[in-house]
Order: sequence, then structure tokens, then C-alpha cells
Amino acid sequence: MTETVISIIAPIFNEKETLPELYRRVSDVMRSTGENWELLLIDDGSTDGSTEIIQQFAQEDHHIKPVIFARNFGHQLAVTAGLDYARGNAVVIIDADLQDPPEVIIDMLKKWREGFEVVYAIRSKREGESWFKLFTASLFYRIIYRITDVKIPLDTGDFRLLDRKVVDVLKNMREQHRFLRGMSVWVGFRQTGVEYERSARYAGETKYPFKKMFKFAKDAITSFSYLPLQLATYLGFVSAGLAILAIPVVVILRQSGSQAFFGQATTLIAVLFLGGVQLISLGILGEYIGRLFDEAKGRPLYIVRESPEDYPD
Ligand code: UDP
Ligand code: MG
Repeated sequence: MTETVISIIAPIFNEKETLPELYRRVSDVMRSTGENWELLLIDDGSTDGSTEIIQQFAQEDHHIKPVIFARNFGHQLAVTAGLDYARGNAVVIIDADLQDPPEVIIDMLKKWREGFEVVYAIRSKREGESWFKLFTASLFYRIIYRITDVKIPLDTGDFRLLDRKVVDVLKNMREQHRFLRGMSVWVGFRQTGVEYERSARYAGETKYPFKKMFKFAKDAITSFSYLPLQLATYLGFVSAGLAILAIPVVVILRQSGSQAFFGQATTLIAVLFLGGVQLISLGILGEYIGRLFDEAKGRPLYIVRESPEDYPD
């Protein structure tokens, strides 16, 4: 195969209202580029009828490649499946809710032709999202930037173009808990960004409730940083240091007849504080050990019910 193909990957979890519009906008954009293209719609266990819509698109248009999961595996795994099934020389990951305007793909392709292997999209503005989402998102990106070695450009999401070389590397990284935007920086290559304004969701509600956001943040941090594990050591040194300093202070105060540090309240506070620190440290250990356990089991990352091979080419 010498022909250039561009793959677009869109993870779908209950997006029936936006699917027709997504299909229309992506196909308009791709037709305008004159390239060969495919749109991989990864159905991540939808229950609202999105699955049937995807199946119907695929019957009618050979550009549409469906990958239908056996259940909900989560956004990052849906994108991973997309990377596995994509055949393109360049692969674009896009959210299905049209918060990432497909028109930006044209700018990405331009950079790709200039020789960049990763072209991420930087959100210069975000519309139609709650202050809570904006605040937690901005905090999250800044923490990740501080505590990890991979310098993920601030305010970028998964909306990005990856060259075939990068996709092939990512396909070999089979870690269970995935933070793709970190992984795609970690691999290196020539990277650049294009700016865009993030729109509001086209329809429906966010599919990232707080619980999923929290899991996403934990996966991101544990995949790229040991800092939480080392925190116990730092806190240990701090409290041991304080204890050593406290010894002469208590002795001198007692000698001078002071009533300070009498009574159980002081002891209770010290015990509860240290107990809390120890439990938190244990919990952090648990997070990492649980992840090791998941890796040891070596289960498949996702399970597919229907793949593009089940549809006309
Ligand atoms: N998504 C998914 N599986 C999930 C949750 C979300 O495939 O378990 C998809 C969703 O359909 C959308 C993308 O991931 O295409 C981003 O989700 P969403 O727009 O709800 O997140 P937000 O933009 O609010 O962060
Ligand atoms: Mg969204």
C-alpha cells in the first residue's frame, strides 16, 4: 500500500445525538482535503442506541470503521483500540462530542506534512464548561506538569495527530492504566502544537463524572511519577525532625515549671496525626501495588464484540 490514508479515531459513549453531526463534519473536512480517510468509531459500551447508529453508518459508507466493545472500558481504552485498528499513515484522535472542531485537522495535516510526528491541539479558550471542570482541569494539568518528568504541554487533551511511527510505538506500550497524552509525549519525536478554541459540547452531557475524572487523574500521576510513594519518606523525616526538636523544648519547659504539654489532648493529636499520615501512605502504596497486580494479570486491555473486519471494505 503506497497510498496515504488518514485515520480519525472517535471514542463513543452514549453520543447518539452528536453522531450524525460528527459524521457529517468529519466527512466534509476530509473530503475537502482530498485524502483517503477512514473514521474509526469506537463504541465504548453505549446503551443509548449509539451502537446501532454506528453499525448503520458502517453499512452505508465504507469510510466508517466500527469497533464495538463488549462493555464500557473507558475513554483511554477506546482510544487505544482506535490506535490498534487504525490503518492510516497519520492518525487523529478526536472527541465525539465536537468539542474538538474537526476543521482543526486541516491545520494538523499541514504541520504533519512539514515533518512533525506529533501535532497536539492547544485549547486557547474553552466554552460551555462549568467553573468546577475548568478549575479541576487547570489544577490537574499544572500538578502533572510539576510532578512528572514528561512535560505535557499545558491545556492539551487527546485531540492530536500522530504519525504512523508514533502509533506503532504506542501500540507496543500495553500498560493497563493509560494516560495517552502523557505517553504520546514520553515517546519523543518531533512535536508541535496548533491552537484552537474548544467549543461547548454539541449535545448531551459530559461522560466524565467526578469518579471517572478522579480515576483518570490517579492513572496519570501513578503512570508518570513516583512522588506519591516518596511522600511517606519526606513526611517521615519532617515528623522525626519535629520530634527531635521537641525533646529539648519539653525538657526546658518542664524544668521551668510550665504546664505546657500536660494532659492527653497533646498525645491524642500527635497519635491521630501520625496514624493519619501512615494510613494515607499505606493507601498510596496500595494504589501502586494494585496497578502492579493489574499488570501481572495481563488481561486484555479491552474486549471487542465487532471489529472493522465484520463490515464491507
Ligand atoms: N468517552 C468514552 N468512554 C467513557 C467516557 C467518555 O468513550 O467511559 C468518550 C465520550 O463519548 C467522548 C470522549 O470520550 O467522545 C470525551 O468525553 P466527554 O466529552 O464526556 O469528556 P469531557 O469533554 O467532558 O471531559
Ligand atoms: Mg467533551
